[in-house]
Amino acid sequence: MQRTGEHHAMPATDNAPLHTAAPDPVTPLRSAGSKSAKSAKIHVVRARRQTILNHRNRQNARLQRLLLIGLFGLFYLVGVAVFYMHGLVDQVALTTATVLITSTVSMFYLCFLTGWNNRAREKNLRVPISLCAIGIMLVLSYMAPATQILFTPFLFLTMTFVLHRVSPKMMLLLTIVTLCGYLLVIAVHYQQYRDWAMLQLEGALMLSLLLTLPGFVVLASRMQQLHNALFKATRKIKDIEEDAQRDVLLGCYNRRYIVAALEQQKRMADESGAPLCLAVIDLDHFKRVNDEAGHLGGDEVLRTFARVAEGNVRKQDIFGRYGGEEFLLVLPETPLSAALNISERIRTQIEHYDWQGKLRHGVTISIGLTQYIAGESVLDLFSRTDTAMYTAKQNGRNQVVVEGATVEGVLA
Ligand code: GH3
Ligand code: MG
Ligand code: MG
Repeated sequence: MQRTGEHHAMPATDNAPLHTAAPDPVTPLRSAGSKSAKSAKIHVVRARRQTILNHRNRQNARLQRLLLIGLFGLFYLVGVAVFYMHGLVDQVALTTATVLITSTVSMFYLCFLTGWNNRAREKNLRVPISLCAIGIMLVLSYMAPATQILFTPFLFLTMTFVLHRVSPKMMLLLTIVTLCGYLLVIAVHYQQYRDWAMLQLEGALMLSLLLTLPGFVVLASRMQQLHNALFKATRKIKDIEEDAQRDVLLGCYNRRYIVAALEQQKRMADESGAPLCLAVIDLDHFKRVNDEAGHLGGDEVLRTFARVAEGNVRKQDIFGRYGGEEFLLVLPETPLSAALNISERIRTQIEHYDWQGKLRHGVTISIGLTQYIAGESVLDLFSRTDTAMYTAKQNGRNQVVVEGATVEGVLA
């Protein structure tokens, strides 16, 4: 069993991206100016990266939704084409439908692709998309009256598209616009053809829309309430799940989560054969820290330590509190040399942390580090790592002890 300490030259740091797990709910003791400025910068960069990722995911979801609407448009077009084949619709109407549908879908596709939709208040552009769809159907209803058979089912399909996201007021407005538009089609048709039978048929369709659309709006607002309640409940469950994984005092992962994560990572390492490392970290002379700073001061030291540790691990690493002033760091797909780099980085940052005169002796940590041996139990892995940590204590604390390999061997 070999140890590293403050006198070891730090090997080149791992270049995998860094990661912060949980935001620290309480302001920790501040570190020296340049260091805190640097870590604040890293936090800002990470937050920005996360925002960009979320934004991309949302735009992709919008594009997929538009493709679905495009598919509905295609179905409508198929209907018009079938009518054309039966001589119910002329060539001009079919061409107009094709041009209008493809150009509208392409226009909205470009809007999402270029991010132009982000300038709008409602970034999903549900209302403009619906208005265009209704407009196209009204134009076709005017050009080829037979397409009015398609109008009602496709109108409800369009209204369903805005159902969850648009306020009942906006739904009502869409309904009024639709009814007025259709009324205009009837009026123009009558003006052109003076056909009483056609007027009667179109009047009947208008009546059916008048009787059903308001009911649809009422049902839609009910469904929207249900949707909102479901959304809130899902968010609450997610929050509860997230809280159950977190340590109440420190905000980092708790014992239950970290142990489960270790078991999961062991299984994954068994499957993939990738190296897995485990570090047990214990704060040195913590009773003395409590004596010096009081229990609340001790709590704050623990919070600061957790924040520093989380700021030094990578996205795939899992850091959590095992109990008291003892922590676990699971390092998946990590060879011992990289794990040693990360452990040393945390150890030195804690050793040199500026406690602003609040602690006479400062704070140091002892770390036991091991690499998972294929097939061993989680208990054996933990036990070996814990033993390495106790060796670090016996060897004088403030050091990393690697179990089962020489430090030089690890660093070579
Ligand atoms: P060693 O270097 O051998 O680890 O010495 P130590 O004093 O850190 O170890 P010991 O296990 O004897 O004492 C741990 C102390 O940590 C005792 C306990 O009161 C304190 N502690 C554990 N959990 C908390 C906590 O949540 N807050 C505070 N303030 N103190 C805690
Ligand atoms: Mg301790
Ligand atoms: Mg302890």
